[in-house]
Amino acid sequence: MASFLGPVKGFGVTFATMFKTVNTELYPEQKKPTMPRFHGRHVLNRHPDGLEKCVGCELCAWACPADAIYVEGADNTDAERFSPGERYGRVYQINYLRCILCGLCIEACPTRALTMSNEYELADDNRADLIFTKEQLLAPLAPGMELPPHPMRLADAKDYYRGTPAAHVMSGDAEVSASDAAEGVTD
Ligand code: SF4
Ligand code: SF4
Repeated sequence: MASFLGPVKGFGVTFATMFKTVNTELYPEQKKPTMPRFHGRHVLNRHPDGLEKCVGCELCAWACPADAIYVEGADNTDAERFSPGERYGRVYQINYLRCILCGLCIEACPTRALTMSNEYELADDNRADLIFTKEQLLAPLAPGMELPPHPMRLADAKDYYRGTPAAHVMSGDAEVSASDAAEGVTD
């Protein structure tokens, strides 16, 4: 008797499921918004004058458990300046074949140069296109920003990173800190 009831019980699950509402996701035609703090594709942020926040320190690369980040730093010069201070990230790559979107890299970044957006569509049909370069990761130039290299426009190098009043910018009627103005992404 027990051997007869076993398969019947199994089919019971099948029949019960047949009458449930089908929960079909209509992706990619209909995309559900993520939670606000969802960790998606990275962004390399800029200061309000367009200079890059990344100083090429490699702390994000050392923090990454998946070895997904490659950074090469270089020296700024007076003639060619990409970030305030001494160094900038000359080469910056994130390999999304390795990245597990854990967010440890953005925790490690001392300048908040690296944050994560809500973008989750990170699939492709070849490996090379999933290694994102610095040019792909850099935040677009917002109004009032200037494409580096160029001299520091706002204050001296310390003021950029401390967010002191000298590094504040006007955004419409509201005064916002330099870091808030330059980050349009979640952390
Ligand atoms: S999110 Fe995690 S896995 Fe991806 S690059 Fe950052 S530290 Fe590495
Ligand atoms: S993103 Fe941040 S941690 Fe990574 S190299 Fe640039 S400044 Fe350093």
